Amino acid sequence: MSLEELINYLVRLRLADNKKALCILELASNGEHPSKIYEECKATRDELRSYLNRVREKMGNGYKTFVIIKHVIPLLSDIKPVIVDGRCTLCGADMQVNCAIMSHLFHRHKDVVDYYVQWVIDKLRERVNGNKNS
Ligand SMILES: [Zn+2]
Repeated sequence: MSLEELINYLVRLRLADNKKALCILELASNGEHPSKIYEECKATRDELRSYLNRVREKMGNGYKTFVIIKHVIPLLSDIKPVIVDGRCTLCGADMQVNCAIMSHLFHRHKDVVDYYVQWVIDKLRERVNGNKNS
């Protein structure tokens, strides 16, 4: 699995406006204690476990995955969610179930998702180069 897959997943969570998942991943990548994550994100133990498993599937278990998440999540706030009030603003489809939204974005709006994945990668690259020059 790859870096690009992980970024693709995070971009889709943002396009889907999945605040809870991004809250969980942000706090987890900052090393917060699970009890704080349950409270701040209003998440259950199962939700925490399930989102952590999901990102580990993308890039493997380990520190690296959290470092990437930590750098990508702040960038996502510049991306406007396309799922608004349970409806896809790109094609008008009615979206109710969470996993259906993620696969809808993956299959039906690949161009939009890919565009933002590349945008995130470019931003990360800019930062790395910026740090080198300073
Ligand atoms: Zn759509």
